[in-house]
Amino acid sequence: MATVTSSSKTTLDALPLTQLKGVGAAVAEKLAPLGMHNVQDVLFHLPFRYQDRTQLLPIGALQPGQEAVIAGEVVMADVVIRKRRSLLVRIADGTGSLTLRFFHFSQKQVQQFSRGTRLQCFGEVRRGPGMLEMVHPEYRLQTQGAALQDTLTPFYPTTEGVQQPTLRKLTDQALALLDKHDLVDLIPVSMLTEAALPDLVSALKIVHRPPPNADVNALMDGMHPALRRLALEELVAHRLGLRLLRVEAQKNAAPMISPAGKLATNILASLQFQLTGAQQRVLDEVLQDMQTGEPMLRLVQGDVGAGKTIVAALAAAQAVEAGFQVALMAPTEILAEQHLLNFTEWFEPLGISVGWLSGKLRVTQRRSAIEAVAMGRERIAVGTHALFQNDVEFENLGLAIIDEQHRFGVHQRMALRNKGANDNTLPHQLIMTATPIPRTLAMTAYADLDCSIIDELPPGRKPVTTVAIETTRRSEVVAGVAKAITEGRQVYWVCTLIEESESLQAEAAEDTIAMLDEALPNARIGLVHGRLKSRDKDAIMQAFKSKELDLLVATTVIEVGVDVPNASLMIIENAERLGLSQLHQLRGRVGRGSAQSSCVLLYQAPLSQNAKERISIMRKTNDGFKIAQKDLEIRGAGEVLGTRQTGLAEFRIAELGRDSDLLDDVSDIADILLASKPANVRGLIRRWIGDEKKDYGGV
Ligand code: ADP
Ligand code: MG
Repeated sequence: MATVTSSSKTTLDALPLTQLKGVGAAVAEKLAPLGMHNVQDVLFHLPFRYQDRTQLLPIGALQPGQEAVIAGEVVMADVVIRKRRSLLVRIADGTGSLTLRFFHFSQKQVQQFSRGTRLQCFGEVRRGPGMLEMVHPEYRLQTQGAALQDTLTPFYPTTEGVQQPTLRKLTDQALALLDKHDLVDLIPVSMLTEAALPDLVSALKIVHRPPPNADVNALMDGMHPALRRLALEELVAHRLGLRLLRVEAQKNAAPMISPAGKLATNILASLQFQLTGAQQRVLDEVLQDMQTGEPMLRLVQGDVGAGKTIVAALAAAQAVEAGFQVALMAPTEILAEQHLLNFTEWFEPLGISVGWLSGKLRVTQRRSAIEAVAMGRERIAVGTHALFQNDVEFENLGLAIIDEQHRFGVHQRMALRNKGANDNTLPHQLIMTATPIPRTLAMTAYADLDCSIIDELPPGRKPVTTVAIETTRRSEVVAGVAKAITEGRQVYWVCTLIEESESLQAEAAEDTIAMLDEALPNARIGLVHGRLKSRDKDAIMQAFKSKELDLLVATTVIEVGVDVPNASLMIIENAERLGLSQLHQLRGRVGRGSAQSSCVLLYQAPLSQNAKERISIMRKTNDGFKIAQKDLEIRGAGEVLGTRQTGLAEFRIAELGRDSDLLDDVSDIADILLASKPANVRGLIRRWIGDEKKDYGGV
């Protein structure tokens, strides 16, 4: 196998596309959106499915849904006019017969199908009236023997102006060029511990042109060794990209921030609690990072309610005391507002004002907020995505805190990081997430970050008791709510819909509140949903927090961050439709105070096996790590990490859950390459991640 230096032949990544027959400047331009810029790129544009045109199947053995090549003799051809005028051709091969159905046809075709003519057809078999049929099959008159393919037929993702046949011709040529030119195998075979994995060239040949006996299912679901070889390489490339991000970041200096200060001491003294051991340990790790003069890149994981916010606030206090600004960014308005309340409560008594930047500010408000941040009047700025818009500049940002990381992608992380970048300095970066993920996964997904875990809940938390009740017994649940309210408890009623649409959710919530208003005439009920103006939402949340409301009807907008310790009962509608981590996040809104809390999962029978399992797990445990592990088993990593996680949703063929057994190898290989083969590192990143994402380590 060729290595980077051992060959003098031109490598495929140095051959322009225009070397291929049929590719001029115009076609080359059309191929660019597919990420194809040179001949090597053609080989890394992979099929997403296959057809088997390698063998004739007996008609008698066909199943509906199958794609097949068949051959037979025309028994009968007829133009019929029922709903639509159509040409029906019946063919038979001795094992059975089948109808070919054409809606568009010429007179010439009708004559072509004279009785006794031999045809070879390819198409999808479906159930027709009376017998199986193929609609508009590809067909040829069979004058000589059968014409079959030597390999399975690949289907590629296409783009405007580039059709399947073109892509097949291009890959044919690119595969042929493998004999004359080198494709650099950037992961030496000696590094592969799994012996069954083929070398790169063999893997590509199999994936583009699988032999007739290849296991198509394995090729489609990624379990084929050839695909695993490619997935491994893609994962290595991704990890290298993230590691380089880190290397690049750490070439910068960062503010040196002392770990001891009055501000933090004063905040601690104002609290009604002491830090748990886990909070203290993680805080120490953070403070340790911030005093080194290198940019901190740290992820703090901690279950819902573990107390991440105060850790962030204490880190912020040190940065502010050292003379730097702090940005705190959250993915939703409601969560950002919650942080604003907390930070204001902790910092304003100490004379430090906390600024607010959300997307919903009016133009004039926004302008003055931005000015206050730019001039340095505001030492702490809390907000949503609005914080990293282009027009936001800090006087001297020293620490960027991002909450609920799994909702932000790598690129947003970069954008905020760059806010503080000037003269080769970067702010420290602290990322917090309540989605616990297993170690190997974390190492791949967050390869640019160090990890700390708050693995202990504050004392006195009583696990939330969870029950599941069928919605037909809703009136009993309403009676339970009435009783809880007379006992002075506060209640959440969460309306969920399978549709992501906020407006439908809001409608469902309106219906629910009408029902509850009627059933509970004495209760003070409020409603929050994502369509409310942020001022109104705020007012209602404040009213709930200060016990002016007994019952809060809400959509899943309260999923993250809402903190009302006196609330001790939660009803979740349509619980069977929610994923485990979402249920866990929602349930985490209760059980925050000293009272025994409960959660009612209202469900619609009958439950699927999967839903039964989810609900039973929710009833059995309150442990976010256990729940995350189960979630991973049930749904797979892509889902658990969230599809909004750009950079992770962008794998071409790898799938973190399915390929998790490769991840140890991935990190070993990536480390060796980083240490000893910089050219391979650049090559892999260019091959798999491409040029469009320049911020992956500046390749
Ligand atoms: P999360 O980790 O989910 O962001 P929060 O930071 O919102 O959790 O904290 C949840 C609740 O626990 C808040 O009301 C907070 O004041 C409280 N809390 C945090 N740390 C402690 C502690 N050490 N002891 C008691 N309560 C705490
Ligand atoms: Mg939180």
